[in-house]
Amino acid sequence: MSRTMYDLIGLAAGVCFILALKGLSHPKTARRGNLIGAFGATVATLVVFAYKAPLHNLGWILAAIAVGSIIGVPAARKVQMTQMPQLVALFNGVGGGAAALVAIVEYLALGADATTAEVIFTVFTVVVGCVSFSGSIITFLKLQELMTTRPVVFPGGRFVIAATLAAVLGVSGWVVVALGTTPLMVLAALSLLFGILFVLPVGGADVPIVISLLNAFTGLTVAASGYVLNSTLLIIAGTLVGASGTILTRLMAEAMGRSLFGTLFGAFTAKPQDTSAAGEERPVRSGSPDDVAILLNYARRVVIVPGFGLAVAQAQHTVRELADLMISKGIDVAYGIHPVAGRMPGHMNVLLAEANVPYDQLAEMDEVNPTFGQTDVAIVIGANDVVNPAAQTTPGCPIYGMPILEVSNAANVIFLKRSMRPGFAGIENELLYDPKTMLLFGDAKASLTKVVSALKAL
Ligand code: NDP
Repeated sequence: MSRTMYDLIGLAAGVCFILALKGLSHPKTARRGNLIGAFGATVATLVVFAYKAPLHNLGWILAAIAVGSIIGVPAARKVQMTQMPQLVALFNGVGGGAAALVAIVEYLALGADATTAEVIFTVFTVVVGCVSFSGSIITFLKLQELMTTRPVVFPGGRFVIAATLAAVLGVSGWVVVALGTTPLMVLAALSLLFGILFVLPVGGADVPIVISLLNAFTGLTVAASGYVLNSTLLIIAGTLVGASGTILTRLMAEAMGRSLFGTLFGAFTAKPQDTSAAGEERPVRSGSPDDVAILLNYARRVVIVPGFGLAVAQAQHTVRELADLMISKGIDVAYGIHPVAGRMPGHMNVLLAEANVPYDQLAEMDEVNPTFGQTDVAIVIGANDVVNPAAQTTPGCPIYGMPILEVSNAANVIFLKRSMRPGFAGIENELLYDPKTMLLFGDAKASLTKVVSALKAL
């Protein structure tokens, strides 16, 4: 195959990636976008085999593809929606690590023939790829709760991070000047260390933002390795991932009302939390499914607030059944959707779309907040942080400044959850103790099923 043909097919694959991103920007077209992206990636992979035929080490390449497929396909098929962020973190980390390894191999192959530009791109790919790899592994361990989800800080941590970063920059200069394998290996080791130190201080609720940032990093490493490998397609794909990852990181940080710097280094400046009330038994008002059904039956307007627990319980179909039942009784029903409810952007929209909840019943935070004053019942299902008034009242708490769904303005608030455990951010929610709040304890799906039966009987 000629180089021109190869480049044209690569360009077509690049167009597929752009169309994929366009499709992914709306729930209705997301599935199609995903398929177009997968098609582009398959074409981009196959064309290399045709262009470079016969490929060196074909047996090894096919074996590596087989191993990757045997691990990746079942993992992606079996993963629960709620575990998607950790899977993305793992795949992303492996991508960054692979880009760094490719850059090292290319550097060794080029030897003294490498131009200064190629060496600079190699250094960039090794540093950012290694940071992305080790950082993503830590985010995976945190989200999978294989290590503490709290920020890990230690005395002088900021200085250790700064010193490691300075060492990475210094050794990068050494590689460019001295052109040797040893400095490159030292650089890779220091970058791996920096990736770990960089992510350790990030608290649980902020980890998905860091995953998105590391994803953007991996995109940039792929783009840089595209330069070293003289591949336009890698440059296009890497730049798209870098740019979209950066935009996503910004949007998520904004939705949580924080700066990126605060997300990454906030733990070093955060004030210790007041835990005086923790562990103390305080009275709450708990109710039965019948109590909840009676409240709903006499309401004129109900706002349903879904959260992470709804996804865990897989209660999306049951919540729709409840909403339909209320609508049939003439009750005005809306779903209040917080932009970071759940564990990934758009989590609630995807979940409710799966149960065919009509889009016009979904109300964004800014749209629904002014209506809570005229709402008789706000029913919070498996959500906690996104309705926690501490975000507005407690400076220094991990979610302070995050915009919330102001359910406390509704006449009655019902929480469906299993226990008094806090949400992802690990902080108490005073609203649970408010006299107008009623708690229905239990798994969200089981509780909703009982409420539906009780409401049907009224
Ligand atoms: P939270 O994690 O705050 O609360 C989830 C609640 O669900 C908990 O109170 C838990 O209580 C309850 N729960 C868990 N399982 C069940 C179950 N089977 N049945 C009933 N209840 C259940 O979730 P939110 O959606 O309110 O907040 C999302 C959090 O994730 C925020 O901190 C946000 O900042 C963070 N985040 C989200 C991102 C996104 O893009 N969506 C990105 C970054 C961070 P209990 O254990 O007692 O049942």
